[in-house]
Amino acid sequence: MKPKVFFKTFGCRTNVFDSQVMMGALRDYEVTENESEADIVIVNSCTVTNGADVSVRGYVNQMDKQGKKLFLTGCGAHTKGESLFASGKIQGVFGQSEKMKINTLLSTESRFYEIGDLNYIDDAIVEEFIGKSRAFIKIQEGCNFRCNYCIIPYVRGNARSMDEAKILEQVSRLASNGFGEFVLTGTNVGSYGQGEGRSIAELMKKMSLIRGVRRIRVGSLEPIQINESFQEILDESWLERHLHIAIQHSSNEMLRLMNRRNRHQSDAELFGMLHERGFALGTDFIVGHPGESDTLWREAMENIDSLHLTHIHPFTYSKRDGTPSATMKPEINGTVSAQRMAELNERIRANNHLFRKSMVKVPLEVLVESYDGQRYVGYDQFFNKVLIESQEDLIGNWIALEDYEVDDEYNVAKF
Ligand code: SF4
Repeated sequence: MKPKVFFKTFGCRTNVFDSQVMMGALRDYEVTENESEADIVIVNSCTVTNGADVSVRGYVNQMDKQGKKLFLTGCGAHTKGESLFASGKIQGVFGQSEKMKINTLLSTESRFYEIGDLNYIDDAIVEEFIGKSRAFIKIQEGCNFRCNYCIIPYVRGNARSMDEAKILEQVSRLASNGFGEFVLTGTNVGSYGQGEGRSIAELMKKMSLIRGVRRIRVGSLEPIQINESFQEILDESWLERHLHIAIQHSSNEMLRLMNRRNRHQSDAELFGMLHERGFALGTDFIVGHPGESDTLWREAMENIDSLHLTHIHPFTYSKRDGTPSATMKPEINGTVSAQRMAELNERIRANNHLFRKSMVKVPLEVLVESYDGQRYVGYDQFFNKVLIESQEDLIGNWIALEDYEVDDEYNVAKF
């Protein structure tokens, strides 16, 4: 009987991709989605905030108490790997560049610490995505930006891009295995091909020619990456009608403190243009970064209306040791941050509802992903959640909806 291995994946879609790669590289072990029956647990960690470190450490302690044999990888291996290894609770620590060796590493008798090469280029191919209806494609790794609050460039390395032929082979393998929706992912996805005469838009055009590719989504882009070549693909039928473009804030003074490259005026022009073209628009936004006075917050909330946002990933600033922001003053207290977070969420929730009402005449193209016990759940081309009542098993199916209700939170339909 092969020992059973459970993958605990923290953090972002890039980690989801990396876990899938490791699952595919196992030969003498069996992957289980049931943590309790696992002999071995791979902790694919995140270290984006101090809070992420606490969650990983808490999970390691919990699994150690259950007597699991533990291995640590992911971004946390670079920041907390040594201290967790020294605790004696971890059999082995390995960096992302070593993940293809996982089958051998798990069989190593002695404990090991192999952090590997921070600037390796991934060339792994996965055949499937266990438990998923859409496929995440890692096209890029690392980041050359240096936002003051962010540790990622130090744990994922500088920006570099995967080989185009490998990416296209990856997509065609997954498409021939039934996947129709592809989410491009990476640390700073939009910097794909930079300095190598390649562009993400060109790559997406080539992907769209592969049989079975129906919809392409991009994990997250930076405002400056919606350049001329990207604007050429905005009307393509295979491109989602939603774009996630990370601004992080809408006050120029806060953007300066964060060492961001974007500024509000150019963001407003860009988002205005995309809104005019019917896109749903999402962003990342950090609330409570040091220096976010009441005046700057009010300014940010005034500015945010000109961005026509329909989706948001809001984060409460969380100090990350080793980053410039960690020593900045004045810090913003948690209650104030929570109030601001609530105000921001409510603003975007209302925008999303208005957007869905304004689009009610547009047929929705939904990829159904799961069943919540009552209704099927999927996402439409605007990346809005759709709940569907049906007697048929719709999971993994694409359905077109002309007739649906715009509910407070979701679009609702019968099929
Ligand atoms: S763009 Fe900024 S926030 Fe994003 S990974 Fe790079 S440094 Fe971090």
